[in-house]
Amino acid sequence: MTKAVYADFIYFGGKLEKNKYLLFDEKIIGLSDNCNCEEVFKRENSIIIPGFINTHTHLPMVFFRGLADDLPLMDWLKNYIWPAESKFLDEEFVYDATMLAACEMIHSGTVAANDMYFYSKQIGLALKRAGLKGILGAGILDFPTKFGKGIEDYLNNAKDLVDFFMGDKLIKVALSPHAPYTVSPENYRKCIDFADMYDLIIHTHLSETKDEVENIMKKYGKSPVKLMDEIGLFDHRSVFAHMVHLTDEEIEIVGKKNVKISHCLESNLKLGSGFSPVKKLIDAGCVVSIGTDGAASNNDLDMLSEISTVSKFHKGLNLDPTLLSAEEMLLIATENGAKALWLENSGRLDVGNYADFAIINFDKSFTVPLYNPLSQIIYSSRSENVTDLFVNGNPVMLNNKITTFDEDEIIEKSKWWGRKIIGTISK
Ligand SMILES: [Zn+2]
Repeated sequence: MTKAVYADFIYFGGKLEKNKYLLFDEKIIGLSDNCNCEEVFKRENSIIIPGFINTHTHLPMVFFRGLADDLPLMDWLKNYIWPAESKFLDEEFVYDATMLAACEMIHSGTVAANDMYFYSKQIGLALKRAGLKGILGAGILDFPTKFGKGIEDYLNNAKDLVDFFMGDKLIKVALSPHAPYTVSPENYRKCIDFADMYDLIIHTHLSETKDEVENIMKKYGKSPVKLMDEIGLFDHRSVFAHMVHLTDEEIEIVGKKNVKISHCLESNLKLGSGFSPVKKLIDAGCVVSIGTDGAASNNDLDMLSEISTVSKFHKGLNLDPTLLSAEEMLLIATENGAKALWLENSGRLDVGNYADFAIINFDKSFTVPLYNPLSQIIYSSRSENVTDLFVNGNPVMLNNKITTFDEDEIIEKSKWWGRKIIGTISK
């Protein structure tokens, strides 16, 4: 059944349209000056934009938000995050935490997350309940964990995940070798073979910290980027999170191969890891998209605040206020997200694409008066401005109220988990 949504502005086909109806079912049918659809959503002082695509997350880490801050990456991981994970992680934790993450995704206008964590089936089930899209990274590590003894077990887990979500309209599976310091070149090669066999993208961390680069140099005599190049990962459909510490020569290598990057600026800044040379990467030919990383290192999943930070940071860094304009940032957080995750018919409002969109209302003290709606989104809007979210044409939030589940219940449950976590840790 054809539905329609009306708003003062629609960012459609890469252009700002005014006072139109957007017609859609699961996919977008087109724009119209009028409509006689049965179901029409009308929104005043608002703009319809493609939903944001968050290209690097560890969604269930929302339950560790604020548990340990102001620490270097390895101290933070080894002394806080990994011990907390080994104590609490189970299917129930991951499902409940993903529901909390879904609340935040919906309120900040995000339609899809490219995730990497444990118990990914539960992440997929929670996202499905919320009506959101997800790419579940099946985790690969060299060493044994409770999920497997080694590479063969991890690949078998990945195969189970692929079978379980086969043909799903919201959930896809990716292969996620964690990083060059936890996965050997030999196992990365096995991942490429497996991903080829099941037509999966590969999602991995790369060159996040100075320590990582130094350790990989010591171990293999080459940098993480050169190692990935030698393994052939840049020739496979892949997305790389971080890419912070790069030489000009490496930027040239990844640029020539149009490498897809998930830029996680707030997480890199907060962990004191540095920042990715985004201008150079874009100029070299890379596709830069936006990831929040996990909420334990950000500390949120809010794409609106992330893109505002990214735009302002790189302008300042490069002494160039014209860099990463509002419109460019919107494209980076939507179209480039779809490109980075190799999602077809996504990331742009256009005929035949999936009806994945957010509606942003400007009637807040911090978003009036209105001169340029795209500037107002990137530089002034907060998640409170996002009133509605549609995924595959289905409403997930209408007039600020999530329609797919009871948000209050999730918030109460999350507080219960917090009490349990802090109670056990302080014992
Ligand atoms: Zn990460």
